[in-house]
Amino acid sequence: MPDIIHLLPESIANQIAAGEVVQRPASVVKELIENAIDAGATKVRVIVKDAGKSLIQVIDDGCGMSVTDARMCFERHATSKIRTSDDLFRIRTMGFRGEALASIAAVAQVTLKTKLSGDELGTLISIEGSKIIDSEPTATINGTSVEVKNLFFNVPARRNFLKSNSIEMRHIIDEFQRAALSHPHLSYYLFQNDMEVYNLPTGKLVKRIINLFGKNYQSQLITLEENTPHFNIRGYIGKPEYAKKTRGEQFVFVNNRFIKSNYLNHAVQIGYENLLPKEYYPFFVLFIEIDPNHIDVNVHPTKTEIKFIDERTVYGIIKSAVRQSLGQHNIMPSLDYNMDINMDLPTKFGGENALNTTRELDYERFRPDARGQSNIRNWEALFEKQENLGPDKLKEQFTIESEIHRKGPEHYPSAIQKADLYPQTFQIHGKYILSPVKSGIMIINQVYAHQRILFEKYLNVLVTDSRSTQKLLFPITLDLNPSDFALLMDIEEEIIRMGFDFNIFGKNSIIINGIPAGISDINEKEVFEGLIEQYKFNKEKLEIGIFENLAMSMARYAALKEGKVLNDEAQRSLIDQLFGCKNPNYSPYGESTYVILDMEYIEGYFKN
Ligand code: ADP
Ligand code: MG
Repeated sequence: MPDIIHLLPESIANQIAAGEVVQRPASVVKELIENAIDAGATKVRVIVKDAGKSLIQVIDDGCGMSVTDARMCFERHATSKIRTSDDLFRIRTMGFRGEALASIAAVAQVTLKTKLSGDELGTLISIEGSKIIDSEPTATINGTSVEVKNLFFNVPARRNFLKSNSIEMRHIIDEFQRAALSHPHLSYYLFQNDMEVYNLPTGKLVKRIINLFGKNYQSQLITLEENTPHFNIRGYIGKPEYAKKTRGEQFVFVNNRFIKSNYLNHAVQIGYENLLPKEYYPFFVLFIEIDPNHIDVNVHPTKTEIKFIDERTVYGIIKSAVRQSLGQHNIMPSLDYNMDINMDLPTKFGGENALNTTRELDYERFRPDARGQSNIRNWEALFEKQENLGPDKLKEQFTIESEIHRKGPEHYPSAIQKADLYPQTFQIHGKYILSPVKSGIMIINQVYAHQRILFEKYLNVLVTDSRSTQKLLFPITLDLNPSDFALLMDIEEEIIRMGFDFNIFGKNSIIINGIPAGISDINEKEVFEGLIEQYKFNKEKLEIGIFENLAMSMARYAALKEGKVLNDEAQRSLIDQLFGCKNPNYSPYGESTYVILDMEYIEGYFKN
């Protein structure tokens, strides 16, 4: 057999290697900003067009490069930052692998302009798919500018793999935010399609946080500081009542490098103990300063993972530092979550453990049985005035109804409007509505039921374009952070279609003039903010369309809250509307809207 192994041409080898470092436009932004930081820049400007797909340019006022270095920097493993393997454990710079520029130049059209401060002229290098196509002296300012055009122009599979502009831009903003937080004493700018997205002057960390995320963060921050013999931690954590449904705003930096570590994020989360409801995530920006000898940053080409010699100690100290900071700020005893209607929190009646207990009833006992069948009855049959059924009859009925259940929503009897079918209703704990039904007692969860009702209502409004708006007497101004504002611009049309009425009012601000008709008893601002927050969360977690996502988000935020006392009429109306839904059994998020406590079951309690 002939020999078949051969070396890949360098251009292909480069492309393959590039894949590890350059996954998307945001990776280029990250690497170029890191180089600017390492070059001692005081000012970093980032310019992108089409979410970085057509252009990414980073301009710095750092040390610049000599003519030779300007050529060298595009070679693989060319770096000025380390020389020996020992240096790997003394790393203080962002870069050290000497791969970024080589990788970027392998998959894009790059123009580098750079000048040392003492020199008269600078150097221009153009390189495309790893080939230098131009190199000449040029008049330019001190520092370096790297312009990256048409990323993946020569790797169509990769280019096609890129997501929509809004998603790619989101990733760029994420990287930009991390870099901006990591070095607050540098000034940063971000322009997209000639529009200024961020203009961040130098300052303290707290100022940087506010400039990035909005003024209202000022009152949310709690200082954290902990010094130990091996490492120090400092930064800010968010007050628990401002926790969000998305994890987005959680930052851990180790020696000023942003790192992704579920483990350390978890340490913070645990530090909050039960101050946070399930699936809420606090804001935090924490800086760990540690002797580089105690960590290994050379774990992954993107350098966002690191290994600690003693990660468990770091975990433990973060956890107790968070606890202590929360305690010092008197957060623990003074919090009253029940005041915050938007937290989706358990009832006030949950007792001491309210924050951990989401259900007082043991729902599992009533949930669909092991075969995935449901114990939900045929609705009409539920309320029919029939003679009592014996256990055999019940079994029979059960089987038939399971069949209906399996066939899906359209097989449910559509609207049951006969309020007299369920003559008595009773609300308990501001949370459940009880109504006797033929086979026992129906227990409706008012929150989930209302979410289902609103979900179908707003989905219908969106699909049929049949909004109606209630004007606000006093329009409300809402300041958003730039990324939420960008997201809002993406879904502006749909939000209006749902019944909101708003205008853009200056940079990142809007005025809300009206809200969808038929929602009452809400804080419009919270609903709007919540809507965007939930939309982001859904978008990340669920593969659903905009309409469905918006209707789900709206349902979550405009629905009745636990603790809301309903009079008889409201209770009945809720039941009516629920069973007028196409799929009354579950909330849009998959929670059961009601359960039925069988007579048999109840009777079981009274037998020994
Ligand atoms: P690394 O950052 O890991 O060293 P890069 O490929 O990112 O690898 O950069 C290669 C080298 O090019 C750097 O070590 C540095 O000497 C030089 N360089 C890159 N960007 C800049 C910049 N903005 N200013 C000055 N020098 C730079
Ligand atoms: Mg680098």
